[in-house]
Amino acid sequence: PPDVEALGRSSWTLLHSITASYPASPSPTDQSNVKQFLGLFGKLYPCWVCAEDFQDWMRENRVRAESREEFGRWMCEAHNGVNRKLGKREFDCSKWEERWRTGWGD
Ligand code: FAD
Repeated sequence: PPDVEALGRSSWTLLHSITASYPASPSPTDQSNVKQFLGLFGKLYPCWVCAEDFQDWMRENRVRAESREEFGRWMCEAHNGVNRKLGKREFDCSKWEERWRTGWGD
């Protein structure tokens, strides 16, 4: 399998970048697109234990994407769910936009 850590870092970059470029006021089509994308992402993610746990997490925490802010927060919470599972420190979700949209990276 691919390197789970490198895959994870690049995947989170993709996922948070998608929330950063998501419209502030999404259309119903925008909202349904991200739900479809994440449903398929959860099935195709090429780390199978990761994918199973992520699908379980999404069953308990349905995608919220009625605005960019809401979707960015939801993704941050999803990432924090994995951080907790791995014993990593949680990220302050009030800073998701600074980290992924308006800021300078880490
Ligand atoms: P990462 O966790 O990859 O984070 C990258 C950067 O994102 C950080 O440097 C920080 O700046 C920022 N960041 C951190 N937390 C947040 C947050 N909550 N919101 C916004 N930005 C944040 N690995 C496993 O070993 N087991 C698993 O079951 C597993 N499941 C995964 C499921 C998914 C859907 C994904 C995408 C990855 C999964 N991973 C899993 C990989 C794991 O999450 C990490 O990507 C990997 O361990 C590398 O961690 P890292 O410390 O380099 O930073």
